[in-house]
Amino acid sequence: MTQLPKTTERKMGLVIDLDTCVGCHACVVSCKGWNTENYGAPLSDQDPYGSNPSGTFLNRIHSYEVQPESGPAQLIHFPKSCLHCEDAPCVTVCPTGASYKRVEDGIVLVNESDCIGCGLCAWACPYGARELDRAEGVMKKCTLCVDRIYNENLPEEDRVPACVRTCPSNARHFGDLGDPDSEVSQLVAERGGMDLMPEQDTKPVNKYLPPRPKDMLNDGPREEIDILAPLLAPVVEEPKGFLGWLDKTLEKL
Ligand code: SF4
Ligand code: SF4
Ligand code: SF4
Repeated sequence: MTQLPKTTERKMGLVIDLDTCVGCHACVVSCKGWNTENYGAPLSDQDPYGSNPSGTFLNRIHSYEVQPESGPAQLIHFPKSCLHCEDAPCVTVCPTGASYKRVEDGIVLVNESDCIGCGLCAWACPYGARELDRAEGVMKKCTLCVDRIYNENLPEEDRVPACVRTCPSNARHFGDLGDPDSEVSQLVAERGGMDLMPEQDTKPVNKYLPPRPKDMLNDGPREEIDILAPLLAPVVEEPKGFLGWLDKTLEKL
């Protein structure tokens, strides 16, 4: 219903390092803060101090315990926000044109004044990355802090998404993934960056860097054991191991 651009001039997105994310939620708080105080209307909460709190968050962290075939269980923290897909079904399904993808940088946005809150885009997004603001009845999503990244009133170091600026463990990186020479593209190439659920054919711009093997203590001397790396082959047709498990878990959300 709504057209996607055939191509975009840049592919701005996030590279998220699952090896160094410690699940602290600082990025969640800074995202909520920036987008409540500076972009459009506040991201509403319902019953925030009651027994059944809920709210609008554009970035969420899911934490899982993964049990490898051998060795101890591993805790994986998995940050999730819009992946600014190249073939974004959330855009094409939108009946009003409120959802759109920008030609200049590939960022997927919602024009809230044209949104009728039908929820079709949330249904179409395979990643659960859209949030219906229940107070306003309109759809909201990660904007890659479009009001920060080009904002010349901010110091240059602050012209990145709030989550990236805040992350204390440097697990979040921002840049042009359409430029093979950019720092984010180099990082993806060096670390075997992965698409999330590639079988959905959405061509996500955001990439995830897999956890690296951890040192672990045995009875004997410290020994390096490759716990998760064999399960984390980069972009596969039929996800297996950790990614297959993650896909199934995310589908249930
Ligand atoms: S992650 Fe979901 S909301 Fe974001 S562009 Fe892709 S399909 Fe749309
Ligand atoms: S909820 Fe809004 S943005 Fe989503 S499909 Fe409906 S009109 Fe479009
Ligand atoms: S701020 Fe960084 S380390 Fe903390 S949850 Fe977010 S991505 Fe992970």
